[in-house]
Amino acid sequence: MSLVEVQHQGHAQGMIQRAMAAGRLPHAYLFHGPDGVGKEMLARRLAQRLLCSQPGEIEVTASEREAVGLDHLSDGCGRCEDCRAVQADTHPDLHLIHRHLNRDHPDPVIRKRKGLDISIEVVRYFLIDKAGLTSLRGRAKVFVVREADRITPPAQNALLKTLEEPPPDTYLVLLVELLDRMLPTTVSRCQAVRFDPLPVQFVMDRLGQLVPGLPKSQVRWHAGVSAGSLGAALEQIEEGLFELNERLIQDLAWFPAKDDALTSQGLLDEAKALGALYRKRDPDISDTEAVRRAVKTILKLFACWYADMVRAAGGRKEDVINASSGSVVAKAAAQIGAEPAANAVQRIAQAERQLAQNVNTQLLLDALLIDLARLGHKETVHVS
Ligand SMILES: [Zn+2]
Repeated sequence: MSLVEVQHQGHAQGMIQRAMAAGRLPHAYLFHGPDGVGKEMLARRLAQRLLCSQPGEIEVTASEREAVGLDHLSDGCGRCEDCRAVQADTHPDLHLIHRHLNRDHPDPVIRKRKGLDISIEVVRYFLIDKAGLTSLRGRAKVFVVREADRITPPAQNALLKTLEEPPPDTYLVLLVELLDRMLPTTVSRCQAVRFDPLPVQFVMDRLGQLVPGLPKSQVRWHAGVSAGSLGAALEQIEEGLFELNERLIQDLAWFPAKDDALTSQGLLDEAKALGALYRKRDPDISDTEAVRRAVKTILKLFACWYADMVRAAGGRKEDVINASSGSVVAKAAAQIGAEPAANAVQRIAQAERQLAQNVNTQLLLDALLIDLARLGHKETVHVS
């Protein structure tokens, strides 16, 4: 793997490469954009370039030249001991900081804590103190912080000095989804680099390679629902989200004609099953939080269904994500109509916002189903 293998992030690549070519590589980067589009991959490739013993220039293809805006890219050699150590995740000067590092902290009290955020103790011990030491292999020290928006405000404050005046040969790359989740004082001390969603066709191609045997209709569905995030699409496959969606669609297609088809209890049961999977993946989160995340996923599938209704009613059949349920989509779209379907998408977005504000999930789903039923009867629902 090399820098050029990070695909469809020409904007980010170009910014970093131009800074490197000018000899002005910032010491603190803030990579922001959807998860699963290559932020961590590019951060690791940059680390490889900085730690490599024989970095060189590589020529780029015509399409890459267009995306990045340069004829050559500076990259790690991919063969030396340092490059191989970076790739194997064993390089002593590449530090990956994440919220589960509390388990490796020398203080037993910190070790017992749940890894829900990146605490000041973790930032001090694994980042600030380590940045103050000389690099072990003599070239640089690179700190990549995963989910940097989970760095607590006191820890962000403690980090300000390191961001502003990093010790020699120290590079930090903070990874976040949304820039506005960071303290402005942190953002102002970093060079922000935007990452874009990946093209749906690229996600489809990669899914075809990574999950051989996945039916074409599902490849297309996963790429569409993930909204250009390869990482999210792979998680969806692991979660069995296509199958969950098939069950939801069965009910949604007949809603509200068969008004017992969808109940908040039924949805909560699905959310609990999915939430158990989320907890397996991230044992530090509580049951309530796991269910809340699962409800968020279910709302995403709902939104996708109603957005399909809008597309189908508007004659944009080729853009329909639930294309494998084609005839059901067409029938349901004809029944509900474009305007109420668009209204439903707005109403679901409102429910998503309420969920983020910790509104009780059952009440939230009850209210949502009442409104979706009204929309099914062509009433208008006010969305605040
Ligand atoms: Zn190398």
